[in-house]
Amino acid sequence: MRAQIKLGSIQGVKIGLHYSWLIIALLITLSLRAYFRLHDSEWGESVIWATAIITTLLFFTTIVVHELSHALVAKAHGLPVRSITLFALGGVAEIEKETPDARTEFWIGIIGPITSCLIGFICLSVVLAFGWTPSAFPQNPLLAGLMWLGYINIMLALFNMVPGFPLDGGRVLRAILWWITGNAKRATKIAASVGQFVAYGLIVLGVFRFFGGADIGGLWIAFIGWFLLEASRGSYAQIAITEALSAANVADVMSRDCPIVDGRSNLQAFVDEHLLRTGERCFAVIENARVEGLITAREVRNVARAGQCADAEYVWQRGGIARERPRLRERLVAVSDRRDE
Ligand SMILES: [Zn+2]
Repeated sequence: MRAQIKLGSIQGVKIGLHYSWLIIALLITLSLRAYFRLHDSEWGESVIWATAIITTLLFFTTIVVHELSHALVAKAHGLPVRSITLFALGGVAEIEKETPDARTEFWIGIIGPITSCLIGFICLSVVLAFGWTPSAFPQNPLLAGLMWLGYINIMLALFNMVPGFPLDGGRVLRAILWWITGNAKRATKIAASVGQFVAYGLIVLGVFRFFGGADIGGLWIAFIGWFLLEASRGSYAQIAITEALSAANVADVMSRDCPIVDGRSNLQAFVDEHLLRTGERCFAVIENARVEGLITAREVRNVARAGQCADAEYVWQRGGIARERPRLRERLVAVSDRRDE
């Protein structure tokens, strides 16, 4: 997820917005406006709008704090964090390395829900301190916004603890399985499978609710399920690749049989017989049974681009391709001398 709108950086972590965030911010503002209007009609239109907009912005601030908690724990364990990006379905902290052990994975995962829970309880405590009774709707717009933030952050913490990878709960599950089995790969596989199971569950639930009359709310759940499905597949594939590659050396993936070319052949012959025929891009040049250098398709193209091919012979010479008039003439002379004998 690449941020398209940059907001700045905290502790070296860049904070940004993806365009899709604008849509969700608008949707949340509109639904908050409807929610506040439903509960209190005495506020007046401008107060309702202002409360909805401020509450939405505060909500995204709490999501940044949630992601920042992941990022700071990761950084404390020596894992570099590039950025935090807000998008349509929340936030994502881009940690550049895979976690080295189960303990680190556990703390990076669990800190997010703990943070959201804490934010939720702090918001609700403040509202309670101002004399709110949970059965009633706060009359003060600021307190009403804080109450909503309190509930939504606790719900966010609970949803994130669903043990489906890559949700925070999935990370925690992966860490616990990793710790028990000592096998990171197996732990990832199981956590990702649970993630996919949860995702399919959400899709089915969403579709049922949609046809059961819950309209957009149902589709929203199905959409989150679909996103989770894609994300769990994607992160499983990524971790599988990282794990597979961490055990590999360059020698395992490089091409060992480097094609060779005779340093005395001219460029045209090289192009016709080697470059066009094999599809290889790079050749070792052999002269007197020794590797003298490399010739690449790029070099040939540069010579061709220079437009000097028409009347000159080119051959490879130590350090690259060179015009070969003199040597060619010498060779012709040598051949004709031999004929004359
Ligand atoms: Zn999280």
